[in-house]
Amino acid sequence: MANRDKATNQLEEFKKAQSKADVLTTGTGAPVGTKTATLTAGPRGPVLIQDFTFTDEMAHFNRERIPERVVHAKGGGAFGYFEVTHDITKYCKAKPFEFVGKKTPVGIRFSTVGGESGSADSARDPRGFAVKFYTEDGNWDVVGNNTPIFFIRDPMLFPNFIHTQKRNPQTHLKDPDMFWDFISLRPETTHQVSFLFSDRGTPNGFRKMNGYGSHTFKMVNKEGKPVYCKFHFKTDQGIKNLMADQAAELSKNDPDYAIRDLFNAISEGDFPSWSLFIQVMTFEEAEKFKYNPFDLTKVWPQGEYPLIPVGRMVLNRNPKNYFAEVEQIAFSPAHMIPGIEASPDKMLQGRLFSYSDTHRHRLGSNYLQLAVNCPFNTKAKNYQRDGPQCVGDNQGNAPNYFPNSFSGPQDNKQFLESPFSITGDVQRYETGDEDNFSQVTVFWNKVLKPEERQRLVENIAGHLKNAQEFIQRRTVHNFTQVHPDFGGGIQKLLNSYKKQSAMSAQL
Ligand code: NDP
Repeated sequence: MANRDKATNQLEEFKKAQSKADVLTTGTGAPVGTKTATLTAGPRGPVLIQDFTFTDEMAHFNRERIPERVVHAKGGGAFGYFEVTHDITKYCKAKPFEFVGKKTPVGIRFSTVGGESGSADSARDPRGFAVKFYTEDGNWDVVGNNTPIFFIRDPMLFPNFIHTQKRNPQTHLKDPDMFWDFISLRPETTHQVSFLFSDRGTPNGFRKMNGYGSHTFKMVNKEGKPVYCKFHFKTDQGIKNLMADQAAELSKNDPDYAIRDLFNAISEGDFPSWSLFIQVMTFEEAEKFKYNPFDLTKVWPQGEYPLIPVGRMVLNRNPKNYFAEVEQIAFSPAHMIPGIEASPDKMLQGRLFSYSDTHRHRLGSNYLQLAVNCPFNTKAKNYQRDGPQCVGDNQGNAPNYFPNSFSGPQDNKQFLESPFSITGDVQRYETGDEDNFSQVTVFWNKVLKPEERQRLVENIAGHLKNAQEFIQRRTVHNFTQVHPDFGGGIQKLLNSYKKQSAMSAQL
């Protein structure tokens, strides 16, 4: 027993905390006489339909599964707090940043993206990094990833891009062409694919990676002045990644490695933390910026837009129940609070719709009433009523229409969003050819060490080798635009794989 870790020993810990076992009941709370025998006519059956103890449990069991998330299905979560260490009120009036020392409760969910709920934690995939701040002005979600960028810049492509990582529609198998076909046809993916196949594509668990809000957002101060901003959560544990062979080994031997690692660290009091920084860009700077500041495939260079320290997030509580607190936690970039607003980023705009929409499908239209999602630091008071799985008092006897003359909840102009101007013709603007490579060239030349470049090339070639040759050629062409050594290195390895497989075919 001594060498069992906290996660493995969870049931033993539960037992220790119980003075004695509770009385077993049905779902209606009625005590149960026996849990080992159905009510039957005679010892050999049949079973009587009046056995509610049996039918109640069986019927509930039949309904245990809810749709898994179509993306980010596999993940782990935890709870803790965010504490302000530096004053940013000149930029932002949002409650969590009110004063230095202020603490706001948070919930977080880490995840892989493409795999199903049972897939391996160590898969090469971006990691979801979604934080819910339970503030006095309602819940604010930063629904980010462990990368500051994304594969595409127009949400029209999102479901199609995700399909390339799902299963072939006929074989129900992972398909060697789908991913690279899409990637090579859409060169704006080159930056994120270069992150994905670098060492950071297989982080060592959830604790030793950064998180990024990724999109550009707006912050608004007390005077109503807005600036654009980006969020960076930097791990205080230090970045640690798995090498490709370690990741492959773990996916066989411990596919739940990252969830276990997080649970055990928190159980042992080794609370993981992240330092939050922002980058800030004024509207005037945004007009003149050499890149589109709302392009999700690009970063804001830190030399020009330095990281500004804000605070520290600490995770100090494991979920008591995975389904209630992790499977049901529902993040949406649309969950914003006064002081935090959307930017024009097209991908953000697409996600503002899709996240809440998918939760209404997955959890029901009253998903915001669930304990883990409800704004427990304030109270939702509005004119929404009824619907499936309405929990709580459904806002009791308060008026259910607005406007009303009977002291129902009132709006207040002090909470209006900041106004902004928009010009431009309404059109469908193609963005596939907008500078797709210059920041990747900086990444290749200035960020990666020679041995990291070599591993990036090997990781891509090792994956791409299974795709058809015309797809390989198109992919190599894109990486060659970043740097001739990048595309050239991949092509060289592909040639050697081809030679090896021709030789083994002759044997
Ligand atoms: P900086 O040198 O100021 O920043 C480089 C960034 O790269 C740091 O944030 C660092 O994060 C991150 N980084 C370091 N090693 C790796 C790696 N192996 N894989 C992924 N990221 C890594 O330069 P710039 O801001 O001008 O950015 C240069 C390039 O760095 C960009 O074109 C982009 O490709 C990449 N990058 C930029 C980020 C940004 O927000 N500006 C963030 C992440 C990457 P850390 O300090 O945590 O190690």
